[in-house]
Parts: sequence; structure tokens; C-alpha cells
Amino acid sequence: MSFSLYVHIPWCQSKCPYCDFNSHAAASWPEADYTRALIAELEHRGYTPSYSGQRIRTIFFGGGTPSLFDSKSIGEIINAADRICGLESDAEITLEANPGTVNPSKLDGMRTAGVNRISFGAQSFNDATLKFLGRIHNADETRAAVSMAHRAGFERLNLDLIFAVPGQTVADVLFDIESAVALEADHISAYNLTFEEGTAFFTDLKRGRIKPLATDEQAAMYQAVREEIPRRGYAMYEISNYAIPGHEARHNLTYWRGQTYLGIGAGAHSFARDGLGGRRWWNEKLPARYISAIEERASAEAGAETIGEATAQSEFVFLNLRLRDGFALKDFHERFGRNFECIFGRVATPLFNDGLMTLDGGRIRLTDRGVEMADSVFAEFV
Ligand code: SF4
Repeated sequence: MSFSLYVHIPWCQSKCPYCDFNSHAAASWPEADYTRALIAELEHRGYTPSYSGQRIRTIFFGGGTPSLFDSKSIGEIINAADRICGLESDAEITLEANPGTVNPSKLDGMRTAGVNRISFGAQSFNDATLKFLGRIHNADETRAAVSMAHRAGFERLNLDLIFAVPGQTVADVLFDIESAVALEADHISAYNLTFEEGTAFFTDLKRGRIKPLATDEQAAMYQAVREEIPRRGYAMYEISNYAIPGHEARHNLTYWRGQTYLGIGAGAHSFARDGLGGRRWWNEKLPARYISAIEERASAEAGAETIGEATAQSEFVFLNLRLRDGFALKDFHERFGRNFECIFGRVATPLFNDGLMTLDGGRIRLTDRGVEMADSVFAEFV
């Protein structure tokens, strides 16, 4: 038995206009107090029945910009995780980094602290696109950051890309992919730009200051991404994720497979399986309120919901369907003691008939057409 640990670091040098994550632009941050609070929260949660007696198989430092933190703080958190819960010997420990915030000594320090996988928010290799996205780095700085990371000994390295940016063409997207491949990343995540409520881009969109690409242009770009990245040797294993076989992100697989994880830090979400369902809860979003809640009561829980059997079944299906491998009917039965067909037969039949899902070798997965229309397929199971 093991679980995954997510650690949220909520500060960034500046706020990107498309970002709806819990991240706050700041010139300085209470790093020592926040690190202490993270460790106190881990002490509190690590000994509760959902986690006690289980080791940690993956840690993911996400944000925000975790690479703003000193490697000493990151090392203290990793050591605390090992002391409190125990790390599996091959634990995957990922740190998200902004290419504009690293230097050789920081990366050496992170590697020494135990981080063994780094994920750079490259987003694009076109400087005009990066400027439009409000990024603090240019393409050459990303190239330099990746080469520093390789020199520091990071063999596992992800690059995030964003496509369907207004003004972008399919040729631009192909250039971004070629640039990422040339940097010898072992994993590429490619996300369609979205305009989420509460972001600066959402306001710009409402006021007519920016215009998204037409739906068919976005679909053409997604198709180019789905064809080109695998052609370069990276298998598509999730609707937005590609890896050299064997280099998939183990941490994210925890989410897609509906397994137990613990999230610590401001606004972090957690899920613990319990019987046929589970419990989900989330923390205070504001860093200052998070720190004071932990200091006062060791927990910063701000809300929770019980996941009943029916919701857990729906989540199991639409999360696993994100994976190209889908899920085995026998795994569904093992998890819930019921057959998939009994519960979802009426929903699934038209999806099979319309060529959006397929059943093959006892596994259900999306077809290529199903991947294109993934959101509509998932909506059928909610
Ligand atoms: S660096 Fe990442 S987390 Fe920070 S504002 Fe930009 S997109 Fe959001």
C-alpha cells in the first residue's frame, strides 16, 4: 500500500494572464513559515488512518512556481516525508520549474535534495507567443535551463507546451514540438489554451480584446500534436501527455486511476479511498490563512465531500478513459464488485455504436474519434 503526495507552492514571480491556478505574484514569500506549516500538516495527516502505515510512491511539487524555493526547503520537506511516512526506494519526486527562475547551483541543490524529475513550463519556443502568454522567460532561456538541468543529472525531464494560442499556426505548433524534442525531454505535455473565468484572458475575451482560434483551427492543432509527438517517439498515454515508453509520469497516473493521494499546502486537494467511495477535501486557498490555520489547529481543511459509490464509479470511468490504455473491465469489477455493463450499459452502448469507445481484449478505451471528442464522452458518465 502506498500513496502519492502533492505539495503546493503558491507563489510566482508574476501572474500569467491565462492562469487559473492558486498562484500569487510576489517579490518575496514567507518560505520558512510555509515550509514549517507543510511539514506540520504532513505530521498531522501522515498519522491519520487514511495514510498511516503506507509509504509514499511519488511526490510532486507543483504551483505556483516551486523552483522559487531554496533547495534546502525542498530537501527539508522530502526528508520530513521520508521520516513521517517513508519513501519507496524508487519514489518519483518531481519539481515544477519556471525556466526563468533556475541556475546551475539551484538545480544541483534540487537534485541533491532528492528531486529526480523536473517539469519545465516551456509553453512555446516562439518569443512572441511567450510574451503574449505573459511568461517571464524567452525560448533561449528555456533551452539554457534544460541544458543546466541535464548537467545537474536530471534524466527525467518534462516540457509543458501550450497550443491554440491566438495568432499561432499549425507550423508554429510543429516548431514548438521539434524544439522540445531537440532538448531531449523524456516527456511532453501539450495543453490546449483555455480561457478560464477569473483570469485576465477571460476578461480580455469578454471585452473583445482577444479572439480565440476557431474551433476547427484548434482541432487541427490538436490533431497535429497527436500525430507529430508520437512520430518523434513519444507515445500518447493520456489525452494531453506523451512519454518515451516507460517514462510516463507516475504521479499523474495516481489521479487518473482514482487512487489515494494527499495534497498539502494552500488550496491543495486530497482524496482518500474508503470502501467503495472515498473522501475528498481541500485546504484554505490563501497562503497566510493556510499558515495560520496550520499553526492553530494543525489542519487547514476548508471543505470536504464524501464520495459515494455512484460518484466513485463515474469518476473511475471518466478519469481512466483519459488514458489511451483505458481500463480493464475486471479492474472495474474488482474495485466495485459490480459489472461495468450493469451500471453503465445504457450510457456506453451508443458510445460504442458511434465509434467513440471500443472494447478490446477486456479493456475499454476511447477511439481516435473519442479522443477528439473526449469532453463530450466524459460528460456522458457524470
Ligand atoms: S508561472 Fe505557472 S502557476 Fe505561475 S502564474 Fe504562470 S502559469 Fe500560473
